[in-house]
Amino acid sequence: MKKVLSFDIDQTLNVAKTPIPDEIAELLTKCLDHFEICPISGQKFDQFLIQIVDRMKDATPEQLTHLHLFVAQGTQYYRYNLEKKDWEMIYNYPLTEEQVKKITETIEKSARELGYWEEDKLQPGDEIIENRLSQVTFSALGQKAGTEEKYAWDPDHKKREKIVKRCKELAPEFDYEIGGTTSINAVTPGMNKVFGMTHLLEELNVKKEDILYFGDMTQPGGNDYPVVQMGIDTITVRSHEDTAFALRGILGVL
Ligand SMILES: [Mg+2]
Repeated sequence: MKKVLSFDIDQTLNVAKTPIPDEIAELLTKCLDHFEICPISGQKFDQFLIQIVDRMKDATPEQLTHLHLFVAQGTQYYRYNLEKKDWEMIYNYPLTEEQVKKITETIEKSARELGYWEEDKLQPGDEIIENRLSQVTFSALGQKAGTEEKYAWDPDHKKREKIVKRCKELAPEFDYEIGGTTSINAVTPGMNKVFGMTHLLEELNVKKEDILYFGDMTQPGGNDYPVVQMGIDTITVRSHEDTAFALRGILGVL
C-alpha cells in the first residue's frame, strides 16, 4: 500500500488560487489517519496556510503531524511541531540576494521592452515582482487583481512566452516557468518539483513506489510532468472533483 499521498494544489485540490472546498478538507483530514499527506506547489507558505491548513479545521494536532508542506516547489519544507503547536521550517533553499536582484532586473527590463509592464494597473500596495525566497515571481497585474482581469490578460500564454524568450537572452542561467494566469516563476535550474520530491523521499524516508501523486498538469511541459518523469505513480485529474472522487475510492477500500 502507498504510504504517501502527494498533491499539486492549483486545479488539483482547489479552484486555482482559492481555499480548498469543504469536501476536499474533510477527505484530506480522513487521509491523515492512514497516509502522510504532502501538498507541493510553487506558492508561498502563507498561501498553504490560507488555502489548505486553515480549511482543515477538524484536524487534531496529532493528525497535523502527518501533513507535510512542500512550499515553493519543495524548496522549503514545513512540518507541524506537536510541542510548540505550530509549524516549523525544516529546510529552506533560498536564492541569494544577487540572484534575486539579477532576476528582478531581467524580468522588469524584458516586460518593459515588450510593453507588458503594467504598473499603472496595480492596486495600492501591490507589486508585479515578488521575492518568494526560493523563486522570484512575476505577476503581470499584481497579486490583488481580479480573477477575470487575470484570465483575460494572457489566455494563450503569448505575452509570457515573449517575456520568457527575452529573459533567457538576458539571463540564461535561470529557468523561467509560465504558471497560473499571469505569472512567470524564475528559479535556478533544477528547482522544480523534482527537487521537492527528491527531498520528500529523504525527509519522509520513503521510496518512490510508496508515493501516489495527484496533479492536473502531468502532460509533457506541464509543471507536474517532472514528477511523472521521476517514475512516481501519478493520477491525472482535471479538477478537485476528480481528486475527491479518487480519494473517496482510496478511503473506501482501506
Ligand atoms: Mg496545477
